[in-house]
Amino acid sequence: MDTASQDSIAAIRAGDRRALARAITLIESQRPDHRAQALDLLSALGRDRQALRIGLSGTPGVGKSTFIEAFGMMLVESGLRVAVLAVDPSSARSGGSILGDKTRMERLSRHPAAFIRPSPSRAQMGGVARRTREAVSLCEAAGFDVILIETVGVGQSETMVAGLCDLFLLLMAPAGGDELQGVKRGIMEMADMILVNKADGELLATATRTQADYAGALRLLRRRPQDPQGFPKALCVSAATGLGLDKAWAEMRALAQWRREHGHWDARRAEQAAEAFGEEVRQGLLAVLDREPARGIMERLAAAVAAGERTPEAAAAEMLGLLGRS
Ligand code: GDP
Repeated sequence: MDTASQDSIAAIRAGDRRALARAITLIESQRPDHRAQALDLLSALGRDRQALRIGLSGTPGVGKSTFIEAFGMMLVESGLRVAVLAVDPSSARSGGSILGDKTRMERLSRHPAAFIRPSPSRAQMGGVARRTREAVSLCEAAGFDVILIETVGVGQSETMVAGLCDLFLLLMAPAGGDELQGVKRGIMEMADMILVNKADGELLATATRTQADYAGALRLLRRRPQDPQGFPKALCVSAATGLGLDKAWAEMRALAQWRREHGHWDARRAEQAAEAFGEEVRQGLLAVLDREPARGIMERLAAAVAAGERTPEAAAAEMLGLLGRS
């Protein structure tokens, strides 16, 4: 490893935010030489530090950035270092990141104990998962205590974020019972806590009712082995007034502590690491198909199938046979 890399390792481990930002740019790069450097860097940094990784999901407008600003400020003011990562698969389509606007978290982004990294534009879902996983590792190596991973409420990215955090929060708006029916069971099952936001002013009464509805719905779910009694929980918060944020944080810590004491924390991380390994291999195999010579062979075989000269099954068997030998 060269001196520049050694310097950057030391800077990241010392918590230098600029070095961290540069390292995240490196892991986002598609260039093969950058990829090699990124892998070296991640190996050299090791995994001896652990942050509390909190995933946060919710539909646009529910108050995620307002919540992160208020909650993040509460944490940094209590002496913790907080990193915020955004996962925004929609930017892959629009080409620009809607979560990229740091002004949404104005105070937090200026705080010396905070680090905010928007989602890169132009990335495939597989790429987003890898980038987020590696950015989380880098933030942990840089000694952050809490990593908030924000995602918009669309299925695939939620599942991905839930798969790399320790706690998964769902932010919900005050709503009538009908809307509650529409919340997908799978998402409810992923959540460790449902936070009903905007519990203030005219919305307070509706928020309180909504919270009770969610609490009732959560009680109907089967209790998971990784949960103590009473979880998953639904709480009311107001990102605008700060109501309930300290209580929500106390509940998060209690849940994390319980999981640590009962072996679920390590088990979940081990499972996530094994899953990440499998995912990397699958993505790598798909990438092989996109490169020559495999791509050309695929095209020739596809043409032969389309022309009725080969059956799809026979052509696929030939392709897989070739890959097995390559
Ligand atoms: P995001 O799209 O989920 O990141 O949502 P934003 O944080 O941008 O918030 C969307 C809108 O809801 C903004 O106009 C916020 O001011 C408002 N909002 C966010 N949190 C609260 C809250 O706790 N109470 C009220 N009344 N409004 C809120």
